[in-house]
Amino acid sequence: KIVIKNLKVAFGSAEILRGVNLEIPPNTITALMGPSGSGKSTILRVLNRLIELYPEARVRGDVLLDGQSIFKMDVIELRKRVQMIFQIPNPIPNLSIFENVALGLKLNRLVNNKKELFQRVKEALEKAQLWEEVKDRLNAPAGRLSGGQQQRLCVARALAFNPEVLLADEPTANLDPENTAKIESLFLELKKEMTIILVTHFPGQAARISDYVAFLYKGQIVETGPTKEVFTNPKHELTEKYVTGRL
Ligand code: ATP
Ligand code: MG
Repeated sequence: KIVIKNLKVAFGSAEILRGVNLEIPPNTITALMGPSGSGKSTILRVLNRLIELYPEARVRGDVLLDGQSIFKMDVIELRKRVQMIFQIPNPIPNLSIFENVALGLKLNRLVNNKKELFQRVKEALEKAQLWEEVKDRLNAPAGRLSGGQQQRLCVARALAFNPEVLLADEPTANLDPENTAKIESLFLELKKEMTIILVTHFPGQAARISDYVAFLYKGQIVETGPTKEVFTNPKHELTEKYVTGRL
């Protein structure tokens, strides 16, 4: 379970998150929605502490992962547990399909030998529903895959660590309907094993696959609850505009 407690983030004098509180139960998909600039990506960057790469960012409040503050953890350990994928698929294009998934396992010494490495990479590619498409060309550069395949490769790279949490920042924003559907059904499969936080601008996507939604507006959560409830009976004006497609 993830608990975000009174999270505040400022860049210099600009307050971006202004006291975010949110509880995310395990094995669920939570859709994080809200207008551009409301702070959705910033929340994700706090959850895996990528925010620390921005020296001007000041973070206050706390995030608990199974009761433990993420700020007190070893950051490498945290990032194995909390993986992320992005709007623009970002495999290393010149590196092979296999090596893109294998690299993190090797650098972190998570496998003992080549056989184990192959097994872990295969498993990750299978779980990302990419294995059948790439098994005969594992040594081809990742950059030759289609956009949709590259995004599933990024999912596989994340899954190689067996993470507890998958952060997905508009993962289908650059995909066609077919690849979008693949990612959506993949997420429904993955939530049996992990917790997914999905930033999306598509109300339809949230309605199709999320268990909970949280609406962010100007750095605060203005409405959250089970997806069906919020979509059928939105309480906040902004949420209503979103779910009726007027925003
Ligand atoms: P979008 O839907 O467009 O992706 P978002 O909700 O993900 O938007 P964030 O990327 O979290 O929004 O950004 C929130 C605000 O923080 C924006 O106004 C952005 O300009 C600002 N911001 C983000 N990073 C920095 C930074 N390093 N320095 C200053 N301001 C920043
Ligand atoms: Mg964003």
